[in-house]
Amino acid sequence: MIQIDFNIALDDSQTADSPLFDEFELGQMLDHTKAQIIQFLQTRLGDLRCPSHDQPAKVRVDGVYNAETEQLDFNYHIDTCCQMFLMQAIKTLNQS
Ligand SMILES: [Zn+2]
Repeated sequence: MIQIDFNIALDDSQTADSPLFDEFELGQMLDHTKAQIIQFLQTRLGDLRCPSHDQPAKVRVDGVYNAETEQLDFNYHIDTCCQMFLMQAIKTLNQS
């Protein structure tokens, strides 16, 4: 298991006046999306450790949720003990 932090902002510029906007629903939607991201990251990186320093990677997920399109745009920021392991973690994450 690796540490995963979420930093998600809400792009509510389109929905500020909308009475249909449901904050509870949004929370549930995000929880579902977060769970999928966590599962993906843990599957890919959960058992990965730096061969030199025996440290796991850490991941920060920066995202913006667009309430109008119901899409979450996000990027992974991988934090590692060294450059070598960072390269390995990115490679592992991008494997198909
Ligand atoms: Zn290292």
